[in-house]
Amino acid sequence: MSKEDNKENGAQSVSRRDFLRKAGTYSAASLSGAAMLLSNPKPAQATTNVEWAEHFQKNYRLMTEEEKQEALDRLEKRYSEEFGKEVTVDGSPAMDGVLFGYALNIQKCIGCRRCAKACVAENNQSRGDEQQIEWIRVLRLEKGQFSADDRDNAGYPGDYGIQVGGNAYKPAGVVLEGQHYYEAEQVPEKDAFYMPMQCMQCEKPPCVKVCPVQTTYRDPDGIVVIDYNWCIGCRMCIGACPYWARRFNWGEPSLPAEEMNPVTHYLGNRPRMKGVAEKCTFCVQRTRKGRWTACVEVCPVGARKLGNLLDPESDVRKVLETKKVFRLRADLNTYPKFFYFMD
Ligand code: SF4
Ligand code: SF4
Repeated sequence: MSKEDNKENGAQSVSRRDFLRKAGTYSAASLSGAAMLLSNPKPAQATTNVEWAEHFQKNYRLMTEEEKQEALDRLEKRYSEEFGKEVTVDGSPAMDGVLFGYALNIQKCIGCRRCAKACVAENNQSRGDEQQIEWIRVLRLEKGQFSADDRDNAGYPGDYGIQVGGNAYKPAGVVLEGQHYYEAEQVPEKDAFYMPMQCMQCEKPPCVKVCPVQTTYRDPDGIVVIDYNWCIGCRMCIGACPYWARRFNWGEPSLPAEEMNPVTHYLGNRPRMKGVAEKCTFCVQRTRKGRWTACVEVCPVGARKLGNLLDPESDVRKVLETKKVFRLRADLNTYPKFFYFMD
């Protein structure tokens, strides 16, 4: 990685050790991830000794090809022993001429959450009662319309003339915001529509800007990735993301060996450790090999589309050209490459 590339990724390059040394002003909790990694390299279930080299390796994007290959080999060996099956750890870089974009037909989604479950299985997310991580969130929203009558006669409680809560065009107390955890007996429900959310792979990602050690960065195909080894667990990215896209491993992830997906990518679905952030990577282990993401594949109504924004023939480009499209929080100038559309 050249100096120029470093500049492109934002602030000056900061080494993790520099950061930790200068981090006296940060709270002890914010550094707990790093402290844990340094003091407790791997819990007892590992069947092999974790090599210290792993914890002290450079940030992945700054490693030479040779160093990268060594790291991948080491991880393949370690995971294969740990999970009792042959695990591959791919390091494929972004393909030339590809900029991934995603489009979701909000009119079609039936809120079944199959996408969320498929993502957990494909991407080796933690499961179980203690720590369940899902990169996709499906919001349930009430159907409704803003009428002129609502606006004129039901927008404000009583005679006060000021908005004190609830939706701007409904009386205070009526909740129209999305529900993150719904338990519908069957979907779609008559009075609801659904809005799945995941990482928007922003062109100007706030999470990248705030990361003090540049463990998260935007690859040339537009995917925002995380080098888990370099993450210090400060969780600034989680606070900065306006889309609630990042998750944090507060505990050691629970990933049953028999359910572990052995086809992994270094920057994607390889097993994570306690104290690191994670999020959707557009299934980097699949898409850099020309495959669809797991959520595109599983959606029963075909609401999800993935494509190359640089290719005029791609599904996503066709959506952008022919449908009614919007982006979430466009006012923030994050330029998401995740588009919602209607027919
Ligand atoms: S693109 Fe892949 S990683 Fe992202 S939400 Fe879909 S299944 Fe999960
Ligand atoms: S699988 Fe498709 S229909 Fe089901 S919640 Fe996800 S996007 Fe919606």
